[in-house]
Amino acid sequence: MLEQTVDLAVVGGGPTGLLTALLAKRLGASVLVLETKPQPLQLGRADALNARSQQVLEVVGILDELLAQGLKCNTSSIFANGEFTARRSHWWENLQNVHHKNFLMIGQPIVEQLLAAALGDSIVFSEPVESVRETSTGVDVTAVSGRIVHSTYCVASDGARSMVRQSLGIPFTGTKPEMTWAVLDCFIDSDFPRVPEIITFELDGQSRVAWIPRERDLCRFYILLDGEITEEKSKASIKAHLAPHRVEFTKTEWFSTFEVKERLAETFVSQSRNGRIILAGDAAHAHSVNGGQGLNTGLSDSFGLGWRLGYVLAHANELQPGAAHKIIASFDTERRKVAGNVISVAARLVRDTQHEGEQYVGNVEKHAAYITGMGITYSGLESEIVQESGTGAWKAGNPCPDFDLVAAGDSTPKRLYSSVPYGNFLFLVKGDITDHVGKFGKLVTDIKLVPKHAIQGSTGGDKALVYGTDFVADDDSFVAAVVRPDMYVGYSGSVDGAVKYLEELFAPAK
Ligand SMILES: Cc1cc2nc3c(=O)[nH]c(=O)nc-3n(C[C@H](O)[C@H](O)[C@H](O)COP(=O)(O)OP(=O)(O)OC[C@H]3O[C@@H](n4cnc5c(N)ncnc54)[C@H](O)[C@@H]3O)c2cc1C
Repeated sequence: MLEQTVDLAVVGGGPTGLLTALLAKRLGASVLVLETKPQPLQLGRADALNARSQQVLEVVGILDELLAQGLKCNTSSIFANGEFTARRSHWWENLQNVHHKNFLMIGQPIVEQLLAAALGDSIVFSEPVESVRETSTGVDVTAVSGRIVHSTYCVASDGARSMVRQSLGIPFTGTKPEMTWAVLDCFIDSDFPRVPEIITFELDGQSRVAWIPRERDLCRFYILLDGEITEEKSKASIKAHLAPHRVEFTKTEWFSTFEVKERLAETFVSQSRNGRIILAGDAAHAHSVNGGQGLNTGLSDSFGLGWRLGYVLAHANELQPGAAHKIIASFDTERRKVAGNVISVAARLVRDTQHEGEQYVGNVEKHAAYITGMGITYSGLESEIVQESGTGAWKAGNPCPDFDLVAAGDSTPKRLYSSVPYGNFLFLVKGDITDHVGKFGKLVTDIKLVPKHAIQGSTGGDKALVYGTDFVADDDSFVAAVVRPDMYVGYSGSVDGAVKYLEELFAPAK
């Protein structure tokens, strides 16, 4: 019998578990992911990364590999009565302070395989977990094989049927609208115009087929059928919706069904937020795939959770007393409320498929904040680590803006998201930062921002990074901000206010 001890045990190596483990490991925690499958996902499931997921994966450092393989798509179209009747993309084009203004269409298997490769031997495949037991000091995880893993924290990212959630007795409540979708990944031979657009097909006043363009010329179709769901009936429905164009199916790569359930866990942290087992991804929330929010919400859970676990596990000595509890509890505060909204948006969209395409695309537009991922805010949620402050792009609780930078003495343009080290708080100050450099130790990166015209004369003169940018101006109201490792603004306002925010989390550096 194998018995081992790690900081973090992760039950379930889907995208949520893999990314959470990778981020905690990057921050110095020892991690082990236990996964039932014999290898990372090979076919099917999610098909798009939204703008926020691309930002997240850029900071993690794996976006370039995904960009090289994926297909950019920013347009939603309606095809009705034999012709395109609408084509819209303005909610992507009008995104502010965001670099990737599109979905990146790419299969979940590619994402999982990259994350698993980055984790190396910190994941064990073909290792289903049988039970978890929370003690006063940690969690004992027992696999069917007999392996026992003792950990300080445990992440339950074991999918919608989560054994861990069930064994903890955490209610998972909501509705089930009795809709099951067919999902087909295939290659086709067709005279239908090939466009990199998400096409909603309207027939008889309903919108029961959607075509998602994919990498490798792969076609993803979602089909809502009546009665028995078969591949043959799905293909017949696609042909009817694409008429008068001709369609031949040359290869089926994956065919599956997706039963819509809308459910939210009552708490994401065991023992009513005081425990050591944390639910994330589909284990914590379930909803329809409309709007492409499943994988994206799971990745955002991970981006919110990975650093929190890294801090409380590997850097507890650098935190103020009580800060660890605030950091973990705020994951529940923020992500559970966001998940509730995600479920509502997906619920609206999936029901719209029984109406005309205009209604469906109209609601995509209306809920673009969630679909692009860029409008998801932790402001107004009473988060323990968002201090309500600031306005506009610097409003606390909002995603940190991405903007162009040039470093002192270097004319090569960069962007904030491609320049920052993963895992640190950013202490951004326009003006003098000298007194505060190094004050909070290595987990805080001190950055002095100056208007771009002033960068030439600036040497930094201290240990802060110094960047010139058009995003701050001599006469604008920005003075200082603290950006958390998940690239959300925690505080924005005065330098003293930013220092106070950091002092509440970090013990003074030795
Ligand atoms: C057909 C389909 C289409 C989809 N399309 C989209 C889309 O377009 N966009 C989008 O964003 N999302 C989409 N989704 C949803 C997306 O796939 C999920 O939201 C995403 O996989 C959630 O990731 P996760 O890691 O939380 O859970 P999962 O991917 O379900 O991973 C859970 C993992 O835990 C493992 N596991 C379970 N129990 C145990 C155990 N006891 N011990 C060890 N391991 C265990 C499982 O094997 C699995 O690998 C789609 C899903 C489906 C099925």
